[in-house]
Amino acid sequence: MNYKEYIQSDEWKALRQKRLEKDGLCCILCKASMWLICHHLTYDNIFQEDINDLVILCHRCHVRVHRICPPRHIPKLVNEYKDERAVPRSKGVRLFASR
Ligand SMILES: [Zn+2]
Ligand SMILES: [Zn+2]
Repeated sequence: MNYKEYIQSDEWKALRQKRLEKDGLCCILCKASMWLICHHLTYDNIFQEDINDLVILCHRCHVRVHRICPPRHIPKLVNEYKDERAVPRSKGVRLFASR
């Protein structure tokens, strides 16, 4: 399984949902509840992340975080935004617009 397949998987979706609920369905930095992204703090455990490897950020904070500390282990093929953006639409949380 590559990263692209992984982020479509039920395992990833379940983990992302757990993190989302843990963070209160909003960005941990600015508390926005739109344009949410599940950001990897580390890719060390990719494919079997710990919930603590992830945080929920809004798009704006996500861009800022990446500018400050670009992750070193992003799989090469991945356009990270494309792959992280699909936060479930449930509970009033909006999807990051697809492009
Ligand atoms: Zn934010
Ligand atoms: Zn990220």
